[in-house]
Amino acid sequence: MNAVVLLGPPGAGKGTVAEVLVDKGYRHVSTGELLREQIRLGTKLGLEAKTLMDQGQFVPDDVVVGMIRDLIESVDSGSMFLFDGFPRTLVQAEKLDELISDLCGTLKNVFLLECPDDVIVSRLSGRRTCSKCGAVYHTAFNPPSDDDGCDQDGCELVQRADDSEATIRKRLLVYAEQTAPLIDYYTNKGLVDTVDATQSIETVRNAVLEYIA
Ligand SMILES: [Zn+2]
Repeated sequence: MNAVVLLGPPGAGKGTVAEVLVDKGYRHVSTGELLREQIRLGTKLGLEAKTLMDQGQFVPDDVVVGMIRDLIESVDSGSMFLFDGFPRTLVQAEKLDELISDLCGTLKNVFLLECPDDVIVSRLSGRRTCSKCGAVYHTAFNPPSDDDGCDQDGCELVQRADDSEATIRKRLLVYAEQTAPLIDYYTNKGLVDTVDATQSIETVRNAVLEYIA
């Protein structure tokens, strides 16, 4: 197996990069989705995770890594994985290395999407959501044709609490704190490929394609 890891702040366009890699045959692994699936299936691991999440606690590294191990071991050894939202901690990164080496796999690249906080704030804080149908607009990049309402139904456009500047800045701070040790860890291994996420989607796509070529 081989794997790539995707690191980047919320709003940097991780979805765009993930799309490129999925087109190239990578299997997109989101730990959030895996956990929800375990919970849905009612597995022992899922029940454990649900109890913790219901109490507002983080799911421990062991549980997350166990889930990733099960997934990797259950598929063909030639598979390619894209990890998104994992590893989140240094312990998880070390466990991932162990796991990959147990399976004689390779961690090929760690894509680091870089985008200044101010750019992310302006991208995310301009988002407006229709209060009725949930359609998403952007005051600068994708404004509704009628200033006052949704193009579909004319209903009021609102800013979600998640998209307020204060909330975004807080999330960016948490991201920076969590990710800094991971960036160091992978930089020391010579694995980090930096992508300038302020560029156009097309340029970002091409940069990623060049890195994995
Ligand atoms: Zn609408």
